[in-house]
Amino acid sequence: MSNQPASGQKFYGDVLRYFENAARYTKHEKGLLEQIKICNSIYVTYFPVKIGDNIEVFEGIRVQHSQHKTPVKGGIRFSEMVDVDEVKALATLMTFKCAVVNVPFGGAKGGVKVDPKKYSVQQLEKITRRFATELIRRDMIGPAVDVPAPDYGTGPREMAWIADTYAAFRPDDINAMGCVTGKPVGQGGINGRTEATGLGIFYGIRECVNNKEEMDKIGMGTGMAGKRVIVQGLGNVGYYAAKFCEEAGAVIVGIAEYEGGIYNKGGLNVEEVFQFRKGTKYILDYPGAKNFTNTLEVLEQECDILIPAALENQITENNAPRIKAKIIAEGANGPTTFDAEKILIEKNILILPDLYLNAGGVTVSYFEWLRNLSHVRFGRMERRFEEGSMNKLVSTIEKITGKSIDAKERSVLIHGADEIDLVRSGLEDTMIAATNELFAIRNHNRGIKDLRTAAFVSGIDKLAASYGQLGVFP
Ligand code: NAD
Repeated sequence: MSNQPASGQKFYGDVLRYFENAARYTKHEKGLLEQIKICNSIYVTYFPVKIGDNIEVFEGIRVQHSQHKTPVKGGIRFSEMVDVDEVKALATLMTFKCAVVNVPFGGAKGGVKVDPKKYSVQQLEKITRRFATELIRRDMIGPAVDVPAPDYGTGPREMAWIADTYAAFRPDDINAMGCVTGKPVGQGGINGRTEATGLGIFYGIRECVNNKEEMDKIGMGTGMAGKRVIVQGLGNVGYYAAKFCEEAGAVIVGIAEYEGGIYNKGGLNVEEVFQFRKGTKYILDYPGAKNFTNTLEVLEQECDILIPAALENQITENNAPRIKAKIIAEGANGPTTFDAEKILIEKNILILPDLYLNAGGVTVSYFEWLRNLSHVRFGRMERRFEEGSMNKLVSTIEKITGKSIDAKERSVLIHGADEIDLVRSGLEDTMIAATNELFAIRNHNRGIKDLRTAAFVSGIDKLAASYGQLGVFP
């Protein structure tokens, strides 16, 4: 833990190196690039909360990286490890992530230096509400200004507390619910947010492995069926990414967790491993699998696709030479260091970068924000109408052909889209478009060799265009 500030510093340093590297492939003016790179506002606050009989002082951070589009958006982390550099790195990534997947927000991130496990639910509520109040005071939260979301150590519960606090201070803001996303569905949240990041990762991987030209380059066959996958982290992102890959026919051969990892070349059932770990609090000794007490070693085992979905700085120059995967699909933020990436590219490993691959969460958060501003659930107005129209169409086809369609088939055909269908459709479209845009930038532009540089270039160009249109830089 004592080395954590250095880790935040390294993380931010790597983000800046990735940026500088990509900037070389653009022709924008130096000053404009500086503005695009820098974090626009950094707010650090120390606030007191009564915990039992004592007053404890907490450090809260909010970084708004870029206001080229508003509101700015990014999660709030509750962790003892939070530091300003880490939050700056994550806020910067958010700006480019939003730009790459065409979500019209600037990037931000926040955190409170607190270990949530050490506090009761009531105490956490007090800490969360007090931090929200500090943000309200500084005008650093609001549906038009800055819209946080969950991250490490926070979830729908904390987002509901923040929304309620904001609404209490701003009773005249009819869009108050849009001041945070990732809320519970009954409190202005949206169906499909929980699994959005993992599902987005799956859509990105699927689009990539269906691309024959790209698969030929790394010597891999097309399609998800039979692809051997290793996942690091069986949390929200890793669990859903693994599950959707498994459903599409991939074989999950390895899972690395905090306490160790397991590998079985015949395949692991994701749900069964998840339930096993839930019961024993331990992933090791899962029946039929080989144990790895050094969890990082799992990442070096035979597979086609490696999904690091736990935390930053996991693939470094130390273990990169031993990675056997042909594709690294970054579920976590910043799992690959700058130096490791050079080694991986040299080994002809295709990296699907965090910058776009884990953008499913923010994409669906955007849909949630839109739902809050429109004050109506997606699909509510048109679902029955669509079903009625399709029903008439099917009946007409039956009449013309003289053949009847059975009830089950009819119900599939006439199904009108409800919220979850529309959310998934929007997410799928976003991830497919972003994957192809990045391949196009890498393949046809300026000698770029990897998708991370392509993603940064895409983001830098979009921000430069935005500043240009705003008239800030004539
Ligand atoms: P989570 O807390 O739900 O899951 C993280 C998992 O990783 C946990 O199961 C934890 O035990 C495990 N883990 C921790 N240290 C580990 C280690 N050293 N080795 C192996 N496993 C370890 O968090 P999450 O929401 O799934 O987020 C994971 C990563 O994805 C983070 O980098 C986060 O910033 C990023 N991310 C999350 C979202 C989202 O919507 N949740 C969106 C974009 C990016």
